[in-house]
Amino acid sequence: MSTVLIIGAGGVGRVTTYKCVQNSDHFSRIVLASRTLARCEAIAADLPPGAIEVAQVDADNPAETAALIRKVGADIVINVALPYQDLAIMDACIETGAAYIDTANYEHPDTAHFEYKEQWARQQQFADSGNIALLGCGFDPGVTNVFCAYALKHYFDTIETIDILDCNAGDHGYPFATNFNPEINLREVSANGRYWEEGEWIETEPMAIKMVWDYPEVGPKDSYLLYHEEMESLVENIPGLKRIRFFMTFGESYLTHMRCLENVGMLRIDEVEVNGVKVVPLQLLKALLPDPASLGPRTHGKTNIGIVASGTHHGKRRKIYIYQICDHQECYRETGAQAVSYTAGVPPALGALLLARKEWSGSGVFNIETLDPDPMMAELNRQGLPWQVVELDPDS
Ligand code: NDP
Repeated sequence: MSTVLIIGAGGVGRVTTYKCVQNSDHFSRIVLASRTLARCEAIAADLPPGAIEVAQVDADNPAETAALIRKVGADIVINVALPYQDLAIMDACIETGAAYIDTANYEHPDTAHFEYKEQWARQQQFADSGNIALLGCGFDPGVTNVFCAYALKHYFDTIETIDILDCNAGDHGYPFATNFNPEINLREVSANGRYWEEGEWIETEPMAIKMVWDYPEVGPKDSYLLYHEEMESLVENIPGLKRIRFFMTFGESYLTHMRCLENVGMLRIDEVEVNGVKVVPLQLLKALLPDPASLGPRTHGKTNIGIVASGTHHGKRRKIYIYQICDHQECYRETGAQAVSYTAGVPPALGALLLARKEWSGSGVFNIETLDPDPMMAELNRQGLPWQVVELDPDS
């Protein structure tokens, strides 16, 4: 039995907490901590009495986090706060010997890098202390990485190309809102596109490459090439890979709002002075937009996220599509959160479960495609994220 400390009480933290409670035969103690205690208490109030404990923590402060880890005796820490806290929470885990799990790579609050460099640099410290860090254990990154590892293990000798296809066909009824933290979401979407081909990163203007993909149970959707962080580790960890790209669906209204906000400077992450007060425009925008955690009851429709991999198997060309479909309202009924929070929040709880059961183990820092995909694929099927594999025509 393990004690798990979940840090971050947003939409994703809510789902992770629910899933840990559903697996409480493996967790003797579940503690949810966040900067604002009231958000933890609100989640606790929706769960059976005594199912979790709550705590306040400023996770930017490693000493404070380490003290909490010691106080509750956590052996696993799930970081579902913001990417800005990754390094501080990793350092608290190194100090206390707790295992670390996150769903997004470290970001500096002032400059978006979208890279694992500083987290990978802690490899030796985790290895020396004999504990494990699972990086990117959400949906994408996360399940998409596991899909790639599963494809390689069971369907290919060599994978040559991967397209990650992320569709959210949910409708929340607002003219504009983001489905997860607006700062993180808008920074990601407004950045230049980038993909990897024949050993090189190729950069594009934002949203410059578009294709239409016919998503099962959703239908054809405009899908735009973006840079997404899981590509950085997959390029390292899938041998023989020649190309990897990431596509995400966006409707015209979302794109028009985003372009307009960008053109007027509302996506800036530097400080501007207004009547003697320093303001970061993107943080102001976040305060004005609907809280992603409040979208649950309003969002209808489905998500479909998957990978298309092509390559060779036993000398023949092969192409497969592995995907997972979630229904926003079903997710809301189960956890009080919509499908984007659900798909991101279930996998870190399952990562913790696999660590608790010692089905995943190791010393050091791991992107999850380097671990055996089979136990995670089995748990996804059992715990609300069932997936499909479809054989495609390799010439399609
Ligand atoms: P929210 O903004 O809704 O929630 C973030 C939570 O973290 C809030 O409770 C916030 O507290 C808390 N927090 C922020 N700073 C601190 C701090 N210094 N110390 C302690 N707690 C802090 O975000 P989401 O729930 O939408 O997203 C959570 C994470 O999940 C993000 O890192 C996001 O990038 C990631 N994600 C990953 C996905 C994937 O598939 N891999 C998909 C979607 C999201 P407060 O209430 O005080 O602000």
